[in-house]
Amino acid sequence: MERPNAWKAYEEKDLAQVKAIGEDYRQMLSQGKTEREWTRALIARLEKAGYVNLDQVIAENRALTAGDKVYANRMGKAVLSFHLGEDALEKGMNIVGAHIDSPRLDLKQNPLYEDADMAYGDTHYYGGIKKYQWVARPLALHGVVAKKDGAVVDLVIGEKEDDPVVGISDLLPHLAMDQMGKKMSEGVSGEDLDLILAGQPLKGAEKEAVKATLLQILKDEYGMEEEDFISAEIEVVPAGPARDFGLDRSMILGYGHDDRVCAYAELKAIEGIDHTPKATVCGMFVDKEEIGSVGATGMRANYLENAVAEILNLLGDYSELKVRRALQNSRMLSCDVSAGFDPLYASAFEKKNAAYLGRGVCFNKFTGSRGKSGSNDANAEFMGKLRGIMDKNQVRWQTAELGKVDVGGGGTIAYICALYGMEVIDSGVAVLSMHAPAEIISKADLYEAVKAYQAFMLEA
Ligand code: MN
Ligand code: MN
Repeated sequence: MERPNAWKAYEEKDLAQVKAIGEDYRQMLSQGKTEREWTRALIARLEKAGYVNLDQVIAENRALTAGDKVYANRMGKAVLSFHLGEDALEKGMNIVGAHIDSPRLDLKQNPLYEDADMAYGDTHYYGGIKKYQWVARPLALHGVVAKKDGAVVDLVIGEKEDDPVVGISDLLPHLAMDQMGKKMSEGVSGEDLDLILAGQPLKGAEKEAVKATLLQILKDEYGMEEEDFISAEIEVVPAGPARDFGLDRSMILGYGHDDRVCAYAELKAIEGIDHTPKATVCGMFVDKEEIGSVGATGMRANYLENAVAEILNLLGDYSELKVRRALQNSRMLSCDVSAGFDPLYASAFEKKNAAYLGRGVCFNKFTGSRGKSGSNDANAEFMGKLRGIMDKNQVRWQTAELGKVDVGGGGTIAYICALYGMEVIDSGVAVLSMHAPAEIISKADLYEAVKAYQAFMLEA
């Protein structure tokens, strides 16, 4: 039972769409490298598609009705969108949810030091990374600095053509005999992921003269003092745009496909709905998945529940029971990337149950590790229904699990949403080099994900 490659079936009009969607996504991925930047970009597009801020609707106590579109902004790091359907909300929603945070390095709260006439920024990594992949490559700084007076300064350094970049040094091979003999997990330590930020001493400065240069630049360009790092969130990410990949341009190489490729597919599917859907369509774009969905902007926080309560209230139909019913009766695609089969590392996969680049959107009945531990094991009945919807809409799809039994594992937001009692299954795009600074996806799989998510939104 092998799933066919999607490219083989494409006609001219499919290929035009694959190309257009791929390019729109490539640009959005190049411009957004943090959860904050994605939240901002998503809201801009949702507003263009007619969505209004739920907070504003609440403040004006404006009644909502079928066909209305609202979004909820969670602290600038997560967004929920709702396109209200004809059916009562208590009958459940068709929910698609992806995460918009990606593995990276964060500057520490007290990051700066000077050593050997260089100014450094100390980092703490976020999410699951292979540390050796982050040295000897151009890096950029993206983030915010919150001042004591409440002002918040945005900062992006290293993305414009003529911007400087920063980075982490690695040891020359000539002197790396000890390092090269270590296990890969120990070759570069987390505490050694320190960024070089400056190298020219400030004229006239007595001690730490290079750090003084850096502080001078931060003051002049961002009005920032060293103490302001305490209330800053500065993310260190790979510099430069995502690129078409392969001589045939069939793929995209970029930072953060996990899970912005699925977030983009959701957005594109949402934008394409031009009529009032039968069931309410909910899009979720959440933060903190890479560190366990914790915190006020992670999926474990109750914002979905709260937003549903607010919407029921504005529909004039609120009760605690109806909130519970709306959630329990929902159907959800937990949209997250899947590990693409890699022939160079074939022993990590079981070929019959691996995802392949180019074979379409992927459904994972379960994730987890060992004996499915920590997974949401979707119901067969739900998968059966989805097969029907996908085939009817000519979506090319495949199924997969994350690697061979007992070689590792991973999780998504699926099991958290399943706590409400709703039907949930994982569905996403296959990625090569997942969690690396440059990940690879196939444009065909992105196109199929957009089709799959829209079909699900309208028909689940
Ligand atoms: Mn993910
Ligand atoms: Mn991940």
